[in-house]
Amino acid sequence: MKLSYTTKNGRIRFELEGDSQRDLFAEIGKIQEVFEETVCGKCRGENIKFVVRNVDDNLYYELRCTDCGARLSFGAHKKGGGLFPKRKDADGNWLPDGGWVKWNPKTSQNE
Ligand SMILES: [Zn+2]
Repeated sequence: MKLSYTTKNGRIRFELEGDSQRDLFAEIGKIQEVFEETVCGKCRGENIKFVVRNVDDNLYYELRCTDCGARLSFGAHKKGGGLFPKRKDADGNWLPDGGWVKWNPKTSQNE
């Protein structure tokens, strides 16, 4: 089965293929988790950019709000190359603002 899926904000279209509804369901889920963040969790602005930072050959995937400078970081699944938004802290607690953080130069911390 083939499927054309367009993200909620209409900016990205995917061509998906799967042997079953379960395959397609899973593929759509992966896309929605990564590509359907449409507003900044801090300021609710819609000017979001996809950014990949290379630090010492480690790649960091994040969404960045061009209105307020907040960002949402993504982690990588160990298998399959998929990404997921980091919405929890290292202890497994949900982060405020859906995981969007802003660097505070005064405290040198993400907030
Ligand atoms: Zn923002």
